[in-house]
Amino acid sequence: MITGKSYIASEPSSSTGNTFKTFDPQKNADNPWVFTEATQAEVDEAVNKATEAFESFRSSTGAQRAALLNAIADQIMNLGDTLIDTYCAESGLPAGRAQGERGRTVFQLRTFADLVADGSWVEANIDTGDPDRTPAPKPDLRKMNIPLGPVAVFGASNFPLAYSTAGGDTAAAFAAGCPVIVKSHPMHAGTGELVAQAISTAVNQVGMHPGIFSNLNSSGIEVGTQLVSHPGIKAVGFTGSIKGGRALYDLAAAREEPIPVFAEMGSINPVVALPSALSEDALGWAQKYAGSINLGTGQFCTNPGLILGIVSEEFEAFEHHLQQAFEDIAPQCMLHPKIKQAFDHGKQQADAQAGTTTVVAEAAVDTANYASPMVLRVSGAEFLANDKLHHEVFGPYSLLVSCASKEELLAIIKNLEGQLTGTILATQKDLNGQQDLVNAMQNRVGRLIFNGVPTGVEVCPSMLHGGPYPASTDSRFSAVGIHSIKRWVRPFSFQDWPDAQLPQELQNANPLGIHRLVNNKWTTDGL
Ligand code: NAP
Repeated sequence: MITGKSYIASEPSSSTGNTFKTFDPQKNADNPWVFTEATQAEVDEAVNKATEAFESFRSSTGAQRAALLNAIADQIMNLGDTLIDTYCAESGLPAGRAQGERGRTVFQLRTFADLVADGSWVEANIDTGDPDRTPAPKPDLRKMNIPLGPVAVFGASNFPLAYSTAGGDTAAAFAAGCPVIVKSHPMHAGTGELVAQAISTAVNQVGMHPGIFSNLNSSGIEVGTQLVSHPGIKAVGFTGSIKGGRALYDLAAAREEPIPVFAEMGSINPVVALPSALSEDALGWAQKYAGSINLGTGQFCTNPGLILGIVSEEFEAFEHHLQQAFEDIAPQCMLHPKIKQAFDHGKQQADAQAGTTTVVAEAAVDTANYASPMVLRVSGAEFLANDKLHHEVFGPYSLLVSCASKEELLAIIKNLEGQLTGTILATQKDLNGQQDLVNAMQNRVGRLIFNGVPTGVEVCPSMLHGGPYPASTDSRFSAVGIHSIKRWVRPFSFQDWPDAQLPQELQNANPLGIHRLVNNKWTTDGL
């Protein structure tokens, strides 16, 4: 049952104060639940309890943390249709998407459970000492990753489950041994509360310190600001807009003790459609791209917002087929009236720029909160000269850029801001001669796709979900997959430390049987 309360140290809060509601964009009406805004006192209490809990959580075993993560996954599944119905009522997204995202969330939790149960993720290195070395003895050094401390997590509006309360950031932080305080997304506070209840039940079930988890309700930026400014918070995970992510990054940097902010933000995901690919299948690519631009009503961070081509018959044919393919796609609901407003504003801004012409501009839909997709076209020269065309328009929107030459296309790519993804459509033969293009793209993006669409982010170790700023605030890390755990840890060395006092991961006998780099050789053997 949704109570509207924040959860402090895994318990529902009893405080009263200002309230807010979530909104059902399909019904165009408020949802019934009333949420109480968290107070500064609650922020303090949540962080203080997290700091206290860190003392025991940091040294919990991999098996204990795996039990926690699996229990959270079980409890999320136990929420059954209540979770699916609430998700749909707070997002306007269909039940199939809710179920898919729940599956992804549970998969992420269980993947981290397996990772920490195995234990090798700590990257243990051992360099044994040599007291007889001359001119000076060599010390015994042993290094492994240890958790940073309490982490503040901000979820995204467009992924109420997989990138929110028990999403990738939270799963990775728990796996690392970091307590988590979630600033619940105000558009899906009910979904957030149900998941918070599932986490709280799991924490109690496995007997961990309740301070490892809090979930704070808030409809404005104050609670998030207080959280990031709190000296007890040691790192921040954020998924959302460039504006929001940058504000939190600056706030964290201005603290007396600056802390890392891993913000995954918006992107326009450039696609280069070379004539070689389009001459083979302009229709097929147009249909795939119409689907990708409209997927989830365009509300994906990997939405293809920029499609670059070279002036040619093939690019003309692609444009024509794209226009036609949009006609077969039914309008869809957006997440919230505010997202729809921002989408309409973004479209108007783009449409008003010099040199843009319309490829697709569907008439306004009568149903409230439904999006009218848009595709514009502009020349390479106009695009290069106008930064306003480089911004993300969050929704079913894309911009076709017809470049006069390959040189112009390269200049555009080199001039782009950092991106989550880049895509090249070409025949394999043609790609062989495009190393300059591949290099230019690689410099600007986190993931390069050959002959595909950028939407769809597989959860696996080889996925890199991030990229040069502003796609993310730190391009060295991924927000998706097991390696995202590295955001919440720091490497730490013990020197000449007694074996019995070392963590098991670094002890001579290797009691956990993990993979370790011992005197420059990978092994699972003991010393
Ligand atoms: P958002 O408006 O930035 O909000 C995200 C969260 O941050 C909300 O809880 C929001 O609180 C908070 N926030 C925003 N500005 C803040 C500030 N100045 N100080 C403190 N807190 C602040 O983003 P959104 O609308 O939820 O998400 C859509 C965006 O996310 C799109 O740009 C999309 O491309 C991007 N996205 C990126 C990824 C990725 O992995 N890279 C994934 C999904 C989405 P309030 O709402 O209370 O203000």
